[in-house]
Amino acid sequence: MSAFDDLFAANAEFAKEFGSSDLTGRAARGLGVVTCMDSRIDPLGLLGLKPGDAKILRNAGARVTDDVLRTLVVGVYVLGVERVLIMPHTDCGMTKVTDADIHDLTAERGVDTRSLDFHTVPDQWAALRHDLTRIRTSPFLPTGMPVTGAIYDVRTGRLSPVDY
Ligand SMILES: [Zn+2]
Repeated sequence: MSAFDDLFAANAEFAKEFGSSDLTGRAARGLGVVTCMDSRIDPLGLLGLKPGDAKILRNAGARVTDDVLRTLVVGVYVLGVERVLIMPHTDCGMTKVTDADIHDLTAERGVDTRSLDFHTVPDQWAALRHDLTRIRTSPFLPTGMPVTGAIYDVRTGRLSPVDY
């Protein structure tokens, strides 16, 4: 038994029903979504999307990091992304710790993470405003590309649009 046997067994069942797909790697609905890695978020389900529709970029805190910008550039110029939704969520773990807290936690296990920036979120609204601005003012992304924000409520499933 490996730690992943359950997954490979589930995939064997999944593939039986899969048939064949003619989807391409382009975002069929022209959408990019930046959201958190939180395991309660089903980005496709909560937005009425299906596989093939959107590029989903996930990390801790739904932050627009250098790597998210890099990925959006590929999404826009190569893979059909024409609009971007930044979607943080309620009860996010990244709003409950600081970078210093994480450094302390890792140090307890002998790991020095002080060279990493965790982009923790002391103020979710300020972080969202910052991240919206980062995309809108990026010299690498098209001027005027629709970009907006919305906070997903993990208890109700509701999305609250937020724009600045
Ligand atoms: Zn989160």
